[in-house]
Amino acid sequence: MQIIYSPAHRRHAVATEFDGVKLIPAYEVPERAEAVLQALSDRRLGAIRSPEPFGLGPVARVHDQALIRFLETAFAKFVKKHGADVREAYPSSWPARRLRQVPGEDIDGVMGYFCFDTATPLLDGTWTAAREAVDCALTAAQLVDQGAAHAFALCRPPGHHAASDLYGGYCFFNNAAIAAQWLRDRGRRVAILDVDYHHGNGTQEIFYQRADVLSVSIHADPNWAFPHFLGFADERGEGAGEGFNLNVPLPYGTGWDSYAQALDTALAKVAAFGPEVLVLALGLDTFGHDPISKFRLQTEDYLRMGETIGKLGLPMVVTMEGGYALGQLGEITANALEGLLTP
Ligand SMILES: [Zn+2]
Repeated sequence: MQIIYSPAHRRHAVATEFDGVKLIPAYEVPERAEAVLQALSDRRLGAIRSPEPFGLGPVARVHDQALIRFLETAFAKFVKKHGADVREAYPSSWPARRLRQVPGEDIDGVMGYFCFDTATPLLDGTWTAAREAVDCALTAAQLVDQGAAHAFALCRPPGHHAASDLYGGYCFFNNAAIAAQWLRDRGRRVAILDVDYHHGNGTQEIFYQRADVLSVSIHADPNWAFPHFLGFADERGEGAGEGFNLNVPLPYGTGWDSYAQALDTALAKVAAFGPEVLVLALGLDTFGHDPISKFRLQTEDYLRMGETIGKLGLPMVVTMEGGYALGQLGEITANALEGLLTP
């Protein structure tokens, strides 16, 4: 299995302390990708290679031009308004209900228009890191399109919360959706399975009205978990896409036995769709010791998860999504991938 990794992800590094004082824990940190890279290397799971540059064309197949232009220029505009000592740009207000849904011209308004939470700062290096993450996913898609059985894109920042014209949930561009669309543009029949702890709201929105890409997500019930406003079981797709979106929300404290049943349900839906390629949005924050999550999967469960998904026998583009238990993230990611590779 080829592993696609770019050190450019380190350009997106939020502050973890200020004047020697530890800040509220930052979870989506560069150490995540480094830990995974180290574990995959130690376990000899595959050759590690750099991404190829694909340009913005494939990004624009999934995201609105307005969002792309915003992400490219927003940090510089924010600094221009708020001062050169700014390191992280956050929105401060949003076009909530009963307000006009127009971005205006001021950077604070535009930022609130495109961003949906307070956890996803834009930094000087965010654009570069997010672009490289997309290229990792596209390089993996290209390898699979050319005949590879599996390719793993070690994307950071992650992508599955980014919608066509929204960013948030630590995500800027939807790496998995861009890879899926790229494969569609080459005539491939594609399904996406998202096993991140959180609902893949961005991926769902991007393909919600389409019958040509199946979107399946297993995740914590949004009644009590992020992203709170999407990911319920009754969201089945719309118009032509009716029946081509499946959400499997699970209860607080879910362990492997219940998870395995949900996985069977999800995989039956994927198999019935008859895809030629599976894009697997691999989040590892279902882990019992993940600091921001409430499921109880254990280290060895990821081997079983990988094996179960691998039994589909489909070529697979795997994109890295969430997972924040730094001490074990490398091991559980390696377990999931090793499971996938088990014949
Ligand atoms: Zn997550």
